[in-house]
Amino acid sequence: MKILVINCGSSSLKYQLMDMEDESIIGKGLVERIGIPGSRIIHKVDGQEDYVVEEPMENHKDAIKYVFDALTHEKYGIVKSLDEITGIGHRVLHGGEKLSEPVIVTEEVKEIIRDHIKFGPLHNPGNLMGIEACEEIVPGKPNVAVFDTAFHQTMPDYVYMYPIPYEYYKKYAIRKYGFHGTSHKYISYRLPEIMGVDREDMNFVSLHLGNGSSLAAIRKGKVFDTSMGLTPLEGLEMGTRSGNVDPTVVTFLMEQENLTPQQMNEILNKKSGALGVSGLSSDFRDLEDAAHEGHERAELALDMFIIRVKRFLGAYIAELDGCDAIAFTGGIGENSKTIRHLVCKNLEHIGIELDQEKNDVRGKEALISTENSKVKIYVVPTNEELMIARDTKSLIS
Ligand code: ADP
Repeated sequence: MKILVINCGSSSLKYQLMDMEDESIIGKGLVERIGIPGSRIIHKVDGQEDYVVEEPMENHKDAIKYVFDALTHEKYGIVKSLDEITGIGHRVLHGGEKLSEPVIVTEEVKEIIRDHIKFGPLHNPGNLMGIEACEEIVPGKPNVAVFDTAFHQTMPDYVYMYPIPYEYYKKYAIRKYGFHGTSHKYISYRLPEIMGVDREDMNFVSLHLGNGSSLAAIRKGKVFDTSMGLTPLEGLEMGTRSGNVDPTVVTFLMEQENLTPQQMNEILNKKSGALGVSGLSSDFRDLEDAAHEGHERAELALDMFIIRVKRFLGAYIAELDGCDAIAFTGGIGENSKTIRHLVCKNLEHIGIELDQEKNDVRGKEALISTENSKVKIYVVPTNEELMIARDTKSLIS
């Protein structure tokens, strides 16, 4: 069985075709700059040169047409006909309160995605367009929606509610939803497997640190708390997102600088975080290099990131009533030994003891704590595409 996984961002689209017999990747690719001059698709298959097409692509529907063309291309294609693809799994950002599991796309599901554009204005429209393009171009093929919010639906009300007048929850469903759910879910299955314990028998903190970052406190396989909220803006400092600030900062700035809600959103989502503080870059590799050379604001941005990760980690260990492990994942978590070291530094008193030698790994599964460390520390590369493909397979089988 071959499953196509599609992940539509606001102006990009990633895809991966998987063979579910052995869960291997047959080919994958990326469409960049959708709706912006310079659109292009890069189609990659192991052992052959990349196939690149640069053509204007106005929207996600145009992009999907190029994806299907690449998949069936005479020379670079990986299927003879689209009939070989059994189903399509779509990553969708926001599913609100109604969806706690992946679902086969129906009119009702699309309505829920449309209804949550209000909380995911950058992602839900592209996600929906991707689904509709597939429905149109390959009619009859099952589409499955896998929501970033779904895995977090197990949080209790006293964790997901905000302490604002209750009527706003009733009126607008304003509450914490959490994101990166597919990644945290993958870790919640893979980590117990690596440790050789039952997932019902362990508590751990999953640290997804990447361009966007979130922590999740996972108790017996279920999310108890997570750091992102109504939208992916809450929580940690991120590449370009502010994470938590005193809400008054927002109203004060809007008044002083005469900003519309949209302009304020743009500042908090795209011009803040590590980029806003450093004035240099949102990329943590650049920041580490610059800090090393003495760039003070890059160092400040990194210090601010680390203290926030520690703050949530400490809080979640307290919330879990006992923590067996912590797991680093995401671009930064998987690759940066420096950041893992700084996050774990001076936490021996709460049972977290990093082994510096074992920590010298990149991008692969590893136990990186000392033998004495009460809380085991792991690197577990995430695999959201695999998770989406598995969910798609199990729903359409
Ligand atoms: P996304 O949230 O877009 O999926 P990723 O999980 O791919 O992003 O993470 C991207 C981030 O990971 C970037 O900030 C990048 O600099 C960082 N990163 C990747 N490799 C390293 C590394 N070796 N050291 C530090 N940061 C790294």
